[in-house]
Amino acid sequence: MGRRLARRRRIDRAARDAGLRAGRGGPGPDTIDRRPPVLADVCEGFVPELALIRRCSEAEAAVLAVESLVLVERLPAVWSALYAGRIDRRRAAVLADLLGEVTPATAAAVLARVLPAAGEATAARLRERTRRALAGIDPDALAARRERAARRADVTVRPVAEGLAALVAELPTTDALACRDAVRRLADQQRAGGDDRPIGVIRAAVARDLILRPWGSSRPPVTAQLTVHADLPALDPAAPAQPACEVDGVVVTAAECRALLTALGMLGVATAPRGGSITLAVHDPTTGALRAVATRQELARAAGLTRRRRHRAGATGSGGAGSRGVDTATCPRGDSSAHRYDAEPTADGPGLRRPPATRRYRPTAAQRRFVRARDRRCRWPGCARPPARHDLDHATPHAAGGATDCWNRCCLCRTHHRIKTHTPGWAFLLLADGRVLVRTPSGVTRLSTPPGTDRDGAPPTGPPPGRPTGMSRTGHPTDAGDPTDASDDPPF
Ligand SMILES: [Zn+2]
Repeated sequence: MGRRLARRRRIDRAARDAGLRAGRGGPGPDTIDRRPPVLADVCEGFVPELALIRRCSEAEAAVLAVESLVLVERLPAVWSALYAGRIDRRRAAVLADLLGEVTPATAAAVLARVLPAAGEATAARLRERTRRALAGIDPDALAARRERAARRADVTVRPVAEGLAALVAELPTTDALACRDAVRRLADQQRAGGDDRPIGVIRAAVARDLILRPWGSSRPPVTAQLTVHADLPALDPAAPAQPACEVDGVVVTAAECRALLTALGMLGVATAPRGGSITLAVHDPTTGALRAVATRQELARAAGLTRRRRHRAGATGSGGAGSRGVDTATCPRGDSSAHRYDAEPTADGPGLRRPPATRRYRPTAAQRRFVRARDRRCRWPGCARPPARHDLDHATPHAAGGATDCWNRCCLCRTHHRIKTHTPGWAFLLLADGRVLVRTPSGVTRLSTPPGTDRDGAPPTGPPPGRPTGMSRTGHPTDAGDPTDASDDPPF
């Protein structure tokens, strides 16, 4: 299936890239460097489509696509061995990884040495044998492989155990070994000084301190930015409900969230940390759908607790969401201003509402705040890229009559924004309740639900997905939010 789809999606990249460079946005050097060379002549939308069809991550889909193309088109002998059962997929993957980008002559020479006994060795042993053979036959191939890998190096975080995540810095092997040795030596010194924690814990703490340098003043300060989503009951350890929270998209328990906020000195949500900000999101308690977003000052104005309260006679009544928001989302225990809110009636303010539509093309600041609080991450089904890398996209193009309204905009990462905008055959529909429906060129439909609205298994309210007519097609103008999505050009 992968092979057929890949061939069907193959397009004239030169012509397309030329068109993108003409001012319509295209992948930047960071994105191009990360793309496997085997997929260089395959449409950028192919791997995302394969991931949606198989309901897997795009990284997994990319591996499957690369292995399929390499085995079928470049290493037919390995494909035959796999088909005949002489080797399994793990061993075939090893050979595809190491030989997928070498010349046919080199591949044939290496396979002549390693393939006959490949089924008898472990995958690790087969990798070692193949690398050794490759080093003898074509050392330049290994050098080119090292160079490509170095250009794809990055620093990532991945969960490894409950409450633990691994910080992975991809470095040249010698540098990584030197770093590990330095960490071990410093940890040993700390242990000798009386630290009785497990040695692994000391090493991890040493590595953290070497990066964050809490003692250092010789370099310009760097402020870490963390986005915390917490329901107010989660901030009160005595509350009967302890809903899960999110820190930069990672689900944590309410206790973990409280520990973080305590460390930041903001458990009372009274003041933001330096360089940070606090907004309060008011959700529908039944569906979890976002109703409004406000700062503390806006919340007080909505409740009629500021100076504007003196002119309450001119107020226009209370908004349903606003009243509910103030009643259910007031300040947590320990916040002195909470008592002031509680002491005042909450029905004399104008209430909170979602930001109104604007006739302009670009969204208002309030709309950006609302949509980012609702979406939190890229809304493409299965994508979890964080908000700082998002574009705010017109689901129905502005030029086609689409309103600049919160319900016609959603967050998309630059890659999926580009696919939606420029890759033929995709259809995209933003429903009234914030759900996103994506239809691939091959007709597969997938649904994405706003974070939080599917909690406790409660389905969101709103119209059913229905027939995807009226979906926006590719090729319309959009505007961008934070221009920080690697090096990619905006797709407009
Ligand atoms: Zn995305």
